[in-house]
Amino acid sequence: MANVRPLLPRQKLFVAEYLASRNATDAYRKAGSAPKDADVAGPRLLGNVGIAAAIRKGMDELLEIISLKVEDIVTKLELITTADPSKLTGHHIGACRYCRGVGGKYQWRTSREWMDETAAAKKGEKPPTASGGFGYRRTLKVNPDCAECDGLGQAYVVFADTRDMDPAERELFLGVKQTQHGIEYKMADKAHALDQLAERTGVFQKRDEGMVNALASALIEIRARTSRAPINRKERHDDKGPRQH
Ligand SMILES: [Zn+2]
Repeated sequence: MANVRPLLPRQKLFVAEYLASRNATDAYRKAGSAPKDADVAGPRLLGNVGIAAAIRKGMDELLEIISLKVEDIVTKLELITTADPSKLTGHHIGACRYCRGVGGKYQWRTSREWMDETAAAKKGEKPPTASGGFGYRRTLKVNPDCAECDGLGQAYVVFADTRDMDPAERELFLGVKQTQHGIEYKMADKAHALDQLAERTGVFQKRDEGMVNALASALIEIRARTSRAPINRKERHDDKGPRQH
């Protein structure tokens, strides 16, 4: 590539237009040259050593940008498809008040809870007994022999602390919504992300007109021109090894 003369401004413009349209005739016209013989002069310009080199360099730069964007999108999609939604929010089942109570009786959380209830008991009312003991937590294991809940326990909903989410959970998580029924965690659509991932990684060789094809043909052409292969996602996948759950 030694001793290639710097391009003239009009030639530079032609290169920029050609990179945008991939059409030498159009590029020749848009670069402001005489439109009469554009269909001959335009393609002929591609044979110019300096112009060809500039186009190759421009293609490489474009490819770099495209591949970075594609990589970024694929990485995000991979994170969404591998994230575990049950780490963000869940429907858990724990003990009812009688599951773990002594003798199957009502179990209080704390002595303070019991004393508060005792104090609140109306005159003439029998104060609540503490014979079921203390230490109730919603998270205690259900007693399958519980006569009160038939061993079904009590359901409760949990939400992860958004500060503790890992990168995959962060991609899946779209935000919190306060509704009249309580808090709602919005999540990305995993099935849709999986579809997109399959499409972008060519798993199903899905044919799509427009952008995807244009990018694909540009990549194929650039690859044919250069021995460098900036995208090599397959290797990257293989390096990752099995995922941890
Ligand atoms: Zn129970």
